[in-house]
Amino acid sequence: MVERILRNMVGKKHEPLTGIDGKVIVVAHDLSPSDILQIDKTTVIGFITEMGGKTSHTSILARALEIPAVVGMERIASVVTENATIIIDGFTGVVILNPDQETFRDYLRRKQHYEYVERELLKLKDLPAVTLDGFAMILKANVEIVEEVPSVRRHGAEGIGLYRTEMLFFNRENLPDEEEQFHAYAEIVREMAPKPVTIRTLDVGGDKVLTDLNLGDEANPALGVRAIRLSLMQPEAFRAQLRAILRASAHGKVRVFFPMISGVDEVRRAKAIVEEVKQELRRAFIPFDEEIEIGIMIEIPSAVIIADLLAREVDFFSVGTNDLIQYSLAIDRTNEHLSALYEPLHPAVLRSLKMVVEAAHGAGIAACICGEMAGEPEYLPILLGLGFDELSMNAVSIPRVKKILRRCTKKEAEAVAARAMTYATAQEAESYLRSVIAARFSDSFD
Ligand code: PEP
Ligand code: MG
Repeated sequence: MVERILRNMVGKKHEPLTGIDGKVIVVAHDLSPSDILQIDKTTVIGFITEMGGKTSHTSILARALEIPAVVGMERIASVVTENATIIIDGFTGVVILNPDQETFRDYLRRKQHYEYVERELLKLKDLPAVTLDGFAMILKANVEIVEEVPSVRRHGAEGIGLYRTEMLFFNRENLPDEEEQFHAYAEIVREMAPKPVTIRTLDVGGDKVLTDLNLGDEANPALGVRAIRLSLMQPEAFRAQLRAILRASAHGKVRVFFPMISGVDEVRRAKAIVEEVKQELRRAFIPFDEEIEIGIMIEIPSAVIIADLLAREVDFFSVGTNDLIQYSLAIDRTNEHLSALYEPLHPAVLRSLKMVVEAAHGAGIAACICGEMAGEPEYLPILLGLGFDELSMNAVSIPRVKKILRRCTKKEAEAVAARAMTYATAQEAESYLRSVIAARFSDSFD
């Protein structure tokens, strides 16, 4: 990403990212997920923030909307000047201010190479996601807004594995009512049909602040009234969302799941409300899928430890590695000072993933992952080897992950996962994985 015009928001009050003239790269102390949703990609062609981590929702949205971004670049705002020339490399997190001509040309070449690789990868779109020894892994996409659906299709997703409905609730005066939610969900469901859409109930709180519903300031928002807890405390809003989701299930294949489940009681309470809502719809002769599958996110360590108990209650598990890593390692996913400690291959994380798969399969239900880890091609051998059935990721990553998948056998992936689990530190597991990638797949990582 190379651009000459820069808008420096330092020292200015919170400004909307709308009504900007010309093409700009925004440099800001912080941007929220709702700021990102307002970005007009024809003017804002990239951004840099001082705050944030790779799995913060701001980063996730930037990837989903294909906006080049570097987050967590401390003090950047005080060193850039307006109208500087700036290069941002969203892959490596490198930012270059006022590059010399040679660097400028080098990055232009890299950009062209990236576009070429992307075009080549899209040729994998219609090839099956199967290993060399015939294991079919289901690869789906995560989406936030309906506008992403064309990209989901273009990248060959087999459905939507995570629809983050909360984005519908941002940047507005009033909360969306049942009718509005129904139209939004049904649109995505119809556009994806007959492929399934997995709709997550509202997951606000933490770094996704929604002042209308949240219960005011909290000392520890990441541990606060969020996600399913909030839904269970605000049953009217929860019922409206469930009615909308169930009604949308008459328009294609829908699965529903609950975020931030910490125990069986929450699952039972949420399911009881689903049952009540179904009963209301039946009485009113409003169609919905009677067989709709209900799942939960596994993203709190307590849910991992009791995964066997939870597996009896639901139809599928989807592991939210972004939060599971955050809560297991006590690493704030949005804190730029801790990004080096955010370790997907920490033995505690790998053991957790294994426990989740074993519990799911023990109960005969599917084990999926929808955290960012699922979209990192280098982790594919481990996730495949651990036994996951389904991975859901940002659409752009699907062909990259599929390319590796099609070049592995499940058997060798099992051996890689088993070996990775023997290491005492994430660094050791990472360096082992790097050696596997270099020996087996280096030409697949352009
Ligand atoms: C996760 O926590 O991994 C996840 C997929 O949910 P979110 O990123 O929306 O918290
Ligand atoms: Mg989460």
